[in-house]
This record gives sequence, structure tokens and C-alpha cells, in this order.
Amino acid sequence: MNCYKSLAYLKSPCRILTGRNLSTSTALRDQHSCRLLVVGGGAGGCSIAAKYASKLGKNKVIIIDPADRHYYQAMFTMIGGGMKKLNQSYKEMEDVLPKDALWLKDTVTEIDPKKSQVTTQKGDTVAYDYMVVATGIELDFEKIPGLLEGLKDHRSGVCSNYSPLYVTKTYGCIQRLDSGNAIFTYPNSPVKCAGAPQKIAYITADYMQRNGRKNVKVLYNTALPVIFKAPKYATSLWKVAEKKKVKVNLNVDLIEVRPDKKEAVFKSLSKPDETFVQEYQMLHVCPPHRPTPVIARNKELSDSTGFLAIDKGTLQHVKYPNIFGIGDCTTLPTSKTGAAVAGQLGVLRKNLSAAMAGKTLTSTYDGYTSCPLVTGYGSCIMAEFDYDSNPLETFPFDQGVERRTMFLMKKDVMPQLYFNLMLRGLWEGPGIFRKIMHLGLSK
Ligand SMILES: Cc1cc2nc3c(=O)[nH]c(=O)nc-3n(C[C@H](O)[C@H](O)[C@H](O)COP(=O)(O)OP(=O)(O)OC[C@H]3O[C@@H](n4cnc5c(N)ncnc54)[C@H](O)[C@@H]3O)c2cc1C
Repeated sequence: MNCYKSLAYLKSPCRILTGRNLSTSTALRDQHSCRLLVVGGGAGGCSIAAKYASKLGKNKVIIIDPADRHYYQAMFTMIGGGMKKLNQSYKEMEDVLPKDALWLKDTVTEIDPKKSQVTTQKGDTVAYDYMVVATGIELDFEKIPGLLEGLKDHRSGVCSNYSPLYVTKTYGCIQRLDSGNAIFTYPNSPVKCAGAPQKIAYITADYMQRNGRKNVKVLYNTALPVIFKAPKYATSLWKVAEKKKVKVNLNVDLIEVRPDKKEAVFKSLSKPDETFVQEYQMLHVCPPHRPTPVIARNKELSDSTGFLAIDKGTLQHVKYPNIFGIGDCTTLPTSKTGAAVAGQLGVLRKNLSAAMAGKTLTSTYDGYTSCPLVTGYGSCIMAEFDYDSNPLETFPFDQGVERRTMFLMKKDVMPQLYFNLMLRGLWEGPGIFRKIMHLGLSK
């Protein structure tokens, strides 16, 4: 099927911007059609579109995403810690999406997998031969009473690295902190980058130690029953927490923020009906997350959790063979990270190409994910593991140890890798380097 835009419905033509077709038409109803539709232009969507845009030809790939900016969200932890600036973490969406693709700056509101067609908020329809869903995961700040109020108040001490709207507040909170509790929370929901809620706790603790602020108590309150999913790195992190004097409370869930009194209310997940209140000077919140509504409300596409139901090996939808998924919006039972997206890209490329050619899908995703656990201003544990939480380490040394090299990798190398290689479709994770560094003996 060729990509076309039905002129019968066209009121105003597409605007051509710097060699890209950006559809900004205000037509009543535009009908598009394409070989490959990519829903979402974030880490997964942009990278997979880049692989196919030039290969399939001009405008044979359509990307739909309403966002003006593409954020490298993994940099948010460094911004919160005062090690990077917000303007280093994003590029204009127009500048990262592949030039040969047509970008519809719009939101997909409905997917009809039986007709292989989607409808957008503006009322356009897009028919596709193949579709990759990459809509990410949503933040649910509203779920916790008082949280948004606290985030919006500049003097409240409430902050969150999870949104570009609030991430710049964190470093100010750290700098002003000289006594009392600094509380860091992890919610009772799936999240993206499960390490991020505690990385900023260690960075804060390190800042306090370096500046001799002994009257600050750092608490990490997590709804999880463990400090980290993969046991090898959990062991390391317990030692880091002890060294940095971070008190870890497991099985506790933030349920309310009282910014006027600087109080946080928690529910115990191990003792039913037990709640308790803690005072804070600083409160860093990882908000509850929820699946994107366009997938969650579509019972043909999602499972009971609301995420896109795909095969954990092939990344193909469990019911619709012309639909694939990547990244945070999927049911893949691995830690939701940009690194996992990179690990999925090669598998998706091979299997999607096989499907397009009518061949059997042969590539299998092993659940590879990575979390650079920054533990202070100059140290990082580079966690890399698979579906079974077994280490899948790239380097031929023990990555369960805090290292400065891994900190520099996270701070200086990874942003380059992301913007210059991954988003251009040229990076599929470190698997090949892992094999070379382990002399071909690694998985
Ligand atoms: C604080 C923080 C720290 C992190 N640290 C790390 C780290 O150190 N290492 C790491 O690897 N990862 C990290 N991550 C996680 C990483 O950023 C995500 O896992 C990654 O971006 C997921 O990519 P994605 O393509 O699935 O989703 P996203 O990159 O979030 O993109 C989703 C896109 O879909 C679009 N969209 C949503 N709904 C629709 C719709 N209905 N129609 C059209 N478009 C839609 C959105 O506008 C967005 O552009 C971190 C994240 C945060 C927030």
C-alpha cells in the first residue's frame, strides 16, 4: 500500500518544513495510508521509524505524536542532581524524527486493529499495513491528593525528576536542605526507570555529606518489597544505602501530601489499614504511572493491566500479526527503560522485516534492560540484566561495584549515544560489544 493523503478531504495542503512533511492541515478529515505507522515518537518510536523511513521510501512511514519536544528522559536524574541543564535533555521533535517520514502532530485516540486503521484527535484517519505502537507510559500525579499543589508551589520542598515541568525544582530543594527529613518515594505501580527514585536519594545524601549537613535524614520509602529487582544489584544497593546513611523503608506507599504542613501520608502495604505521617523538608516523588489510555481502553489490544499485549520474545501483538510494540507501553515483563528499548530495537527490526516479507519471525528478545544507578557525584553501579534478573553485563569487570568510569559513561557518553546513534536507528544496545568483551562467551 502506498502512502497517500486523500485530496478529496484536503482543505489546506501539507506544509513542507526543512525537507520534512509535517502535516498541519486544518482539513475536516484527512485520510492517510502508509506501509508502516508508528504511534509515538519517543525513544522507541523515533528509533524504529528511523530504521524504516529511508528503506521504505519518502512518506511510506507515518509517525503520529503530539509533542513539540523529544526529551532524553534518562538525563532527568542528572538535572535533578544539578549535573546537567534541562535544555541539554531535549531536541525539537521536528529535528529528531526521520526526514523521510511524514509526521502527523496529533494524538491517536482510537485504534481499530480489525480495519488496520487509527483515528486521531483532529479527526484524521490513517490506514496502515503494519503498525508499531510506542506510546510510552503516563504519569499520574493527580492520583495523590496534594501532590500537584506541592509541586506547583516553589517553596513547598516537593519535587519530582519524572516530569520536565518539575525536574528543575529538585536541585534547588537539595541546595536549600539543611535539616529535617528528605523523603524519596517509589509508588505502587509499574514505573519507568525503577532505579530513578532511589538514585536521587543517593545523590542528595552525597550532597549532604560533602557539605557537612549532618542534620538531614535521608529516607527512601518504597512500595516494593525489595530495594531493587535484580538480586545482584540489590545486594550492592543495600551497602550503598548503609554507607550513605539512607534509611530504606520497604512496602510503604505515599497516599497524600500536605504541602501546607510539610507532611507526607503513607500506607503500609504489609500491615493492612496501617497509615502513618512523616514530616519532610524535601519530598521527591516518583508518581504512580498508568498505561496510555488509547491502549488501556482498547480491549482488543491490551491485557488486563492495560498495556499492549505482545509476545515477550518476538514483540508481535498476541492477536494481530501486523501490529508490534516497543518500550514502556507494552506488557514486556522487564524493567521499563530506554536501554530496554535499545535492546528491543534489533529484534523488532528483524521480526518486522520478516513479517513484511511473509517470513517466519526468528529473533527473540531476552529482556535486556539496564539501569545506570548513579550513587553520588562521581559514582555509578551499571546494572544490566535480563528477564530473569540475571546479570547481562557488557564490560569484563564486576558492574555491581560503584565506579567513576560508569558515572562518566552515564553522564557524558550515553546522551551522545542516544541522540546521535539510537534516534537515527544506528544503535541496538550493547549486545555485540558484550560478546566481543567476553570473547564470544557471553549470551
Ligand atoms: C526520571 C527518569 C529517569 C530515567 N532514567 C533512565 C536511565 O537512566 N536509563 C534508561 O535507559 N532509561 C531511563 N528512563 C526511562 C526512559 O526514558 C523510558 O523508558 C523510555 O523513554 C521509553 O521509551 P518509549 O518510546 O517507550 O516512551 P517515551 O520515550 O516516553 O515516548 C512515548 C511517546 O508517545 C507519545 N504518545 C503517547 N500517547 C500517544 C498517543 N495516543 N498518540 C500519539 N503519540 C502518543 C508521547 O508524546 C511520547 O513522545 C528514565 C525515565 C525517567 C522519567
